[in-house]
Amino acid sequence: MLNSGRQHRSYIVRTKWLLPVSFRPLENAWLRVERGLVTGFGTWPPRSLNGLKVIDQGNSIITTGFVNGHTHLEFSSCQKPFNTAGGLHSWLREVVSWKREHSTSLVDPTQNNAAIISGIRESAASGVVALGEIATTNAPYNEIPNRPRLRVFQEFLGLGSHSSQDGLSREATCIRDAQRLSRAGVAVGLSPHAPYSTQWNVGQTVANDSRKKLRRPMRRGKHEIRSPLAMHLAESEFEAEFLKTQTGHFRMLFEDLGVWPNQTPNLATTADWISLLATSDRGLIIHGTHLYDDQVAFSRLKLHRQKLTVVVCPRTTLALSGKLPPISEFKKSGVRVCLGTDGRGSNPDLSIRAEAACLIESGLVTPQEALSMISANGAWALGFEHRTGCIAAGRPADFVILRPSVSPNTADEATMMIFDCVTEVVATFRGGRLIAGNFL
Ligand SMILES: [Zn+2]
Repeated sequence: MLNSGRQHRSYIVRTKWLLPVSFRPLENAWLRVERGLVTGFGTWPPRSLNGLKVIDQGNSIITTGFVNGHTHLEFSSCQKPFNTAGGLHSWLREVVSWKREHSTSLVDPTQNNAAIISGIRESAASGVVALGEIATTNAPYNEIPNRPRLRVFQEFLGLGSHSSQDGLSREATCIRDAQRLSRAGVAVGLSPHAPYSTQWNVGQTVANDSRKKLRRPMRRGKHEIRSPLAMHLAESEFEAEFLKTQTGHFRMLFEDLGVWPNQTPNLATTADWISLLATSDRGLIIHGTHLYDDQVAFSRLKLHRQKLTVVVCPRTTLALSGKLPPISEFKKSGVRVCLGTDGRGSNPDLSIRAEAACLIESGLVTPQEALSMISANGAWALGFEHRTGCIAAGRPADFVILRPSVSPNTADEATMMIFDCVTEVVATFRGGRLIAGNFL
């Protein structure tokens, strides 16, 4: 059994179905991995075994590892979501009181770190090889071994000009934490939380700083993509009203929480934030549930679609808004769509397959579209498109082995079975190395 992080990463796997995403589905197929890279695949048998061990997975489906574009792993210790029945503003009230209780009761951050590790393990066990994570603490993501790829977006928010505990402004703390993670080898980004919680001038400052301070030189003179920006946008039906008049449910929430400032906060429109996200090479619009109701914002989305991805979290959106995001309109606009689970504060688990199944069952996407959303589209959104998102020769071997309850007879059936809730995730691989499950 190969089940440690130090396993030999060269082998051939045989499978009933191989769905590479980069290529048409193959029945009775092989996948060759050498030193962690995919070096070939095809219909059984391969021309040569190259002396490699063949591991026959029988009636399995192998496809590219999944990408979860949006999580808040700090909530991974929640046994069930906070109450979502009252909508976003009501849910936020519970989240803030939970966070306040935890920040005072925790002498050290070990519980927070344990929650993050638990969320990472749950994600890997559900077939995820890359995560877009929103971080609100200075957690040591870089020290977690044998994990999916991470793009950690350091979050900032605030309606006033308060400083954090160490005397730095929130934005300076945020940049400092992102720099620390980046130096430790973790891919980073920044996240203005939401238009109702973040001052416009602060968002502009941080976006500018990220361009100067978070760009890491790469080998051969190339540069990594400019630090991506991610933001929750158009999540609540009351958001637009608040941005315009600074009244309503959000105003009441902030007054009750004691965070409404003496000076009128400097808030911007959804459309302006979309333009700011597009100043980075990658901008992630999280949720966008009510974006189609705001035609100025929607036009801005279409204008900048080459740099943006909408990250929809179907089950969270359904729970908080009673409806699904406008997927058909997003598809017509030409913008990429990927999927996220959001955190366990609003969702019962971190299964990205369950998010996709929710959209398939609603008739909004086909299984093939859903597979692209949780692979290639997600990889592009996180700036990992050269590392993961499909099975292709020369790429890291990021793949998942699935065991369906019945044997699929066609490629379409095999694709559909990926999202069947009784299909089991047997093993998840990043760069040819097992990060969850067992590999016999
Ligand atoms: Zn979120």
